[in-house]
Formats: sequence, C-alpha cells, structure tokens
Amino acid sequence: MSPQKSGLPDQGPVCERCGLVIPQFPELSPEDEHRIRQLMRDGNQLLAVRALVKATGTPLASAKVWVQHDGRTQPRAPGTTCTYCGGRLRSPRAQQCLECGMDWHDPDRPKKLGATAESRSMPDMESDRELLLAIRDQLAEHANRHADWLAHQREREAKIDADMASALEQQRAQGRFYKLVVLVGLPIFAIICLSVFASSR
Ligand SMILES: [Zn+2]
Ligand SMILES: [Zn+2]
Repeated sequence: MSPQKSGLPDQGPVCERCGLVIPQFPELSPEDEHRIRQLMRDGNQLLAVRALVKATGTPLASAKVWVQHDGRTQPRAPGTTCTYCGGRLRSPRAQQCLECGMDWHDPDRPKKLGATAESRSMPDMESDRELLLAIRDQLAEHANRHADWLAHQREREAKIDADMASALEQQRAQGRFYKLVVLVGLPIFAIICLSVFASSR
C-alpha cells in the first residue's frame, strides 16, 4: 500500500457510498484490531483512531477513514444509483447523472446532456441556462400581461375622468341657470309686488 500525500491510500477497496479507498492493515495484529474495534463499539472513535495510528504507523487521515468505515466499504446509500447507467449519483435528490450525462429534471422527458467529457462536467450550467431562459420567458409574459392591464386601467381612469368632468359641467350649468333665475326673477317679482301694492292703495 502506498499512502498518498493526503495520507489516504490510492489503491484498495473503494467505498460505494463515498468513493474513498478504504485503507487495509494486514499488519494489524488480531489483538490490536480487537481492542480498536472494542473502542469503536464503545463510541470512543477518537481513541480508536489514535490506537490505530500507534499500532500501524498509518497517517491520521487514513486511520480516520478506516474507523469511520468500520474498516469496510459501505454499500451505496438508497436512491443514489443512476437508473440509466448504474453509476453513483451525488445524492438521492440528484436529477442528473454525471457518469452517463442523463438529466431527468423533467421526469417525463429525460434527456442526455452532451456526451463529451467537457459537456459532461457542465450539466448543471446547461440546466441553469434552461432555467434562466424559462424564467426570462415567464417574466416577459408577465410584463406583457401587466402592460395590457395598465392600458386597460388607463382607459378606465380616462372614462371615469370624462364622466366626472361632464357631471361637473352639468352641475355648473344648473348652478348658472338657478343664478339667472334668482337674478332676473327676484327683481321682476319685487316690481310686480310693488305695483300690486301701489295699485291697491
Ligand atoms: Zn465511504
Ligand atoms: Zn447515469
């Protein structure tokens, strides 16, 4: 086994769940392994890591991975296998596979995003672009509807203004008429009254 600079081995069994190579320690004596596994069962993971480092001289990172994995590769988490290629998905909620390039954001119309290695590394950008375009279309449609609504609203306001203006004009005309009646009618009425009064004497 040749530990890398990271302290993790580059060869050995690969964990299905996280993709890390699980270090193996054939030199670990059964007594030490038993003692370390006992520490792990008791929940003393840190002590187990230390004991493993001491017993094997392995780098800390390597001992940590071994203890975290119980010394074994772990099966893939449920829902993290691509139904198209069997590759590993990043999470159970993933909607695209980086292994084969399938994208099922729209489950009814799964599609294959470019097959080249370059485009396979950018499916997120591709779907982001589609999302942005969709949002832009929606905004444009909304703006159109809003413009229609505004025009309609302006028409209504104009009509209300016109109605109010004509009602006001009507009121003013009535007011002028009454004023005229009073201004002309009162003196005539007064003259008639006076003449009736004068002639009755
Ligand atoms: Zn793992
Ligand atoms: Zn796949």
